[in-house]
Amino acid sequence: MKRILSDYAYSDGPKSGCWWDDTIDISANPSLTGDHSTDVAIIGAGFTGLSAALHLAEAGVDVTVLDARHVGWGASGRNGGFCCLGGGRLEDSALDARFGKDGRLEWHATQREAVDLVRSLLDRLGIDADTHSDGETMLAHKPKHQRALDEYATHIEENYGVSAAVHSQEELSDLGMNGPFFGGITHPIGFALNPRKYVAGLASAAQAAGARIFDNSPVINVENGVLTTPQGRVATKNVIVATNAYSSENVPNWLAGRYMPVQSTVLVTRPLTGDELQEAGWTSLQACYDSRNLLHYFRLMPDNRMLFGMRGAVFSSSAADAKAQEKAHQDFEKMFPAWAHVERPHAWSGFVSLARNGLPFAGEVPGQPGMFAGLCYHGNGVAMGSYTGQILAKLVLGEKPKLYPKGMQTPLKRFPFGGARRAVLPVAYAGFALSDM
Ligand SMILES: Cc1cc2nc3c(=O)[nH]c(=O)nc-3n(C[C@H](O)[C@H](O)[C@H](O)COP(=O)(O)OP(=O)(O)OC[C@H]3O[C@@H](n4cnc5c(N)ncnc54)[C@H](O)[C@@H]3O)c2cc1C
Repeated sequence: MKRILSDYAYSDGPKSGCWWDDTIDISANPSLTGDHSTDVAIIGAGFTGLSAALHLAEAGVDVTVLDARHVGWGASGRNGGFCCLGGGRLEDSALDARFGKDGRLEWHATQREAVDLVRSLLDRLGIDADTHSDGETMLAHKPKHQRALDEYATHIEENYGVSAAVHSQEELSDLGMNGPFFGGITHPIGFALNPRKYVAGLASAAQAAGARIFDNSPVINVENGVLTTPQGRVATKNVIVATNAYSSENVPNWLAGRYMPVQSTVLVTRPLTGDELQEAGWTSLQACYDSRNLLHYFRLMPDNRMLFGMRGAVFSSSAADAKAQEKAHQDFEKMFPAWAHVERPHAWSGFVSLARNGLPFAGEVPGQPGMFAGLCYHGNGVAMGSYTGQILAKLVLGEKPKLYPKGMQTPLKRFPFGGARRAVLPVAYAGFALSDM
């Protein structure tokens, strides 16, 4: 595999402090040995690959999932658990210019559909993923962002067909969201979950429907309908590539230069006491994020632990991770000074993926009939990855996805600088950090 991150990124180092690992065991699966055949081979056992596997297996298709490590090892087992709108990074004006108003509205409706899909999967499959939060709240970290909230409410109403409630600074305190914010806005779409419980539930349901899952089975080559791992081979009619930020430049070759891995870092506190919650004035279980470009995302979980996430290091090494975690601790203490003394025993990081086009891709790999790929959710893949998996399953089955925006059908464009493309990140981050001040 031709990978663009350091070996450290693909080791267990970055996720060694992950809180979710303490909350549920994920059953181990055998690794692939010998020769096999299947109708659909899926590379990657995260939300995208497992959602595709589940939907295909439920339709009676013979499915084999291969993961380089194990179920949920990638971003799906270590994210912030915000099941929310998002998945792209294009403003409405850019969406209108590229796809017209109808295209823009379909993209937004797809985000809503993706959230609904996760809710319906949890209900239908009986997955208890510790859900909480009624929609999401965005908190203005600058007065000018507070002044723009009415406009944002109009954007929400037009694009998602729901009303949003705008909060003044005083109202935030009454709502149990006291902090260095000038106001906020809540819309009713989305919720929070324990991502490891969700991904484990998806894997069990896919297996119960007949899918086979192999751990420790990195696909090192895909050619002429055969996937090769170090100890086995799978002959297949169709391939689904669901490797997102942990992709390689040559599995398949088409992916080279088309995804931009970017790191995110998360901290989790010990359970806060009732007094500590009161002292900070933060008692809400609402899933929140602030209005920065390099945003913070945070939520008090049902067990009173606070989860706090933000963009991580530019480079991937244990030293860079330590520095990113130090910055996250500093930002946490600035946002919640009353909890500066509170231990935060869990800290970890992982990679999300950006697309040059600014939207995720879900479709057939150009020039390679029978090979499909789904990736690049811009840090919002709990819902969008799950929905992309469903789209890919439908495409394999020859069915039309209910909502399938033009933007998601557009193949990923290559970033400049090939394998060195991440070199631009420090400059981009510095620009964002400056505008967030
Ligand atoms: C710290 C962090 C916080 C985040 N917070 C949120 C959030 O709150 N809300 C949200 O919506 N999104 C969030 N995200 C993003 C979200 O987690 C991802 O978009 C989503 O999990 C991607 O799912 P996936 O299945 O496409 O990829 P992944 O879950 O990354 O899975 C890819 C899998 O592919 C496997 N793989 C790679 N190459 C090969 C190969 N050659 N052979 C076999 N297997 C291979 C890997 O081992 C991995 O398990 C966060 C991500 C991170 C890292």
